[in-house]
Amino acid sequence: MRPEALFEYFADVERLPGIGKRSRLALERLCGTRLVDLLFHLPSGLVDRRYRPKVSAAAPGGIVTLELTIDEHIVPKNRRMPYRVLCHDETGDLTLVFFNPRADWLQRQLPEGENRIISGKLEDYQGKMQITHPDYMIDPTGDEEMPLLETVYPLTAGLSGKVLGKAIRAAVETVPDLPEWLDASMLKRDKLPEFKSALASVHKPESLEDLAPSSLARRRLACDELLATQLALAIVRERTRRKRGRALRGNGLIVEKILKALPYQLTGDQQQALREINDDLKSDKAMLRLMQGDVGSGKTVVALLAVAAAVEAGVQTALLAPTEILAHQHLDTIAPIAEQVGLRVALLTGRNKGKPRAALLGALASGEIDLLIGTHAIIQDDVAFKDLGFAIIDEQHRFGVQQRMALSGKAEHGVDVLGMTATPIPRTLTLTAYGDMDVSLIQEKPPGRKPVDTRVVALDRLSDVIEGLKRAMHTGARAYWVCPLVEESELIDLAAAEERYGTLKHLFGDRVGLVHGKMKSAEKDAVMAKFQSGEINVLVSTTVIEVGVNVPEATIMVIEHAERFGLSQLHQLRGRVGRSDLKSSCILLRANDVGEVARARLKIMRETEDGFLIAEEDLRLRGGGEVLGTKQSGLPEFRLVDFSEHADLIELARDDARMIVSKDPDLKSERGGALRHLLYLFERDEGVRLMQSG
Ligand code: ADP
Ligand code: MG
Repeated sequence: MRPEALFEYFADVERLPGIGKRSRLALERLCGTRLVDLLFHLPSGLVDRRYRPKVSAAAPGGIVTLELTIDEHIVPKNRRMPYRVLCHDETGDLTLVFFNPRADWLQRQLPEGENRIISGKLEDYQGKMQITHPDYMIDPTGDEEMPLLETVYPLTAGLSGKVLGKAIRAAVETVPDLPEWLDASMLKRDKLPEFKSALASVHKPESLEDLAPSSLARRRLACDELLATQLALAIVRERTRRKRGRALRGNGLIVEKILKALPYQLTGDQQQALREINDDLKSDKAMLRLMQGDVGSGKTVVALLAVAAAVEAGVQTALLAPTEILAHQHLDTIAPIAEQVGLRVALLTGRNKGKPRAALLGALASGEIDLLIGTHAIIQDDVAFKDLGFAIIDEQHRFGVQQRMALSGKAEHGVDVLGMTATPIPRTLTLTAYGDMDVSLIQEKPPGRKPVDTRVVALDRLSDVIEGLKRAMHTGARAYWVCPLVEESELIDLAAAEERYGTLKHLFGDRVGLVHGKMKSAEKDAVMAKFQSGEINVLVSTTVIEVGVNVPEATIMVIEHAERFGLSQLHQLRGRVGRSDLKSSCILLRANDVGEVARARLKIMRETEDGFLIAEEDLRLRGGGEVLGTKQSGLPEFRLVDFSEHADLIELARDDARMIVSKDPDLKSERGGALRHLLYLFERDEGVRLMQSG
């Protein structure tokens, strides 16, 4: 259960002053509607009104606060001219400028002959000092106040900075102190403030340095968020490894046969990964390893060799894939080799029903199947192995820890688990995403790959692209055409894909097919099969083809509105072509008008095919927040960490988390109790759920 001290943190914002229905709706869009969401909504700037020079000494370009005497209102002759109010102090003159103001209101605000405190951005306009639309115009004899330091937040329509600032200040006041969960010696060494006072000072910066991610308060909060994440991962790791694994030692016979059957040699990275996996298999600790390698780097064959080693050692194995298409594809790749070397392989998906399914489960339970390939269907309760010893999870970030645990649950002994992922993430972030796993990296590509010719083309040249496609089709080329990601909504994506399908179908008739996420998987597979066999040449799709699809004959990839995709996603899509010795190309169709960052991002795609480099550059260009939190990458959401500034804290957090879990696995100590608060506060649910299950 959530500790009581956190109730206030998760209370609804409606209890805060100034938050009504409308602003609550806006908050829902902006950051969330619980106090904690406001507390973790960090300021983006600071307006400092403490600079109070005389007119003659005031430096233009920044915010100034001046005490002025109002001299004269100059009402414009027509609406295109600005309304001007002339003022002065004892050192010089200054003009206030307004566009289309309500004149009667202005005259009441700024009566001629009186003094006013004026604050706003000072400009030098053709040698004259002026302020356009001042932020504050205050009567020094009245009681209106002006904040000298104003914290600025990212906003959304329907919410003013004043309302949000007030609500956040109230939230900071409302929430109680929490027990200290950071290591005492680290706190002291780095002079970090306490959590609650760090929150308070982050929301009340007094200088730009306070605002920077390098400030002590920001570092403190980054430590908290990173530790929460790493602790959740460490708990998962510890729970998974509680069951001892078995030492699986093969005799090398099947592995030997596979290596002989392969028409190529393993690359150095493949051999290295295989060695690491084999060492884990042989050890009696449960394996928890991730094999990370770009699309086409040759993970599947390594996985198959590991399966063979486990089978030699006398256990059954499973390969779990996120989609049916992928499960089938694994079967297609693996079955021919398996047959040659005497590995018994079967496929289980949601489509196996009735008697055939029962027969398959019978064979599985009696140990007649060595490798079961399948989708989520494998995890269902009634699927029982005779003796599962090793499981591989492909595209592992698409599965939750729960599913991983369910798979392990199918064995009496600990199951060795190998995850695979083709989603490259920046090196700095590997620990953040996969801190619970050991990582094997395959970076080297198999020899003989041809680079993909990548071009960025503006949408107004769409007809040229279609013309080019037409020519290529005359020679039998096959092409993917991926349609834009419009919003988080599949329905809207679908509309765009259907429209493009319509246009292309009009031109190319039956040679065009469409797949999208809303189709039944049988329909999807049917279209994919036609594309695979060459019955259709152009496959229009939403991003459903993003993972693992393998049609080596496809040589053209068109991605519409490429600027809307994450770079890692573009990289994965591009990885669908260039899979044979044919020359391939990738056309990134961009909107006619795109900003500088978008241009720079697309340029990276043109310049390199190294997925890790791409991920790293994307992180640099967009900043941590945007790359992270995307489901694509499998990374958890971060609100307080700035990965360009706080990267040095990641490893510290990982080490601390592992130390905590080794000393106090059930978080029973005093610090353990505080750490439970931390897990709940940052909603690192996996860790929390496992804590509950004991
Ligand atoms: P991944 O699963 O990492 O995307 P695959 O295992 O599907 O990559 O490999 C892609 C292609 O490269 C396959 O056709 C495979 O046969 C081939 N391949 C794998 N390893 C090598 C190698 N060492 N040398 C040459 N070709 C290889
Ligand atoms: Mg693969």
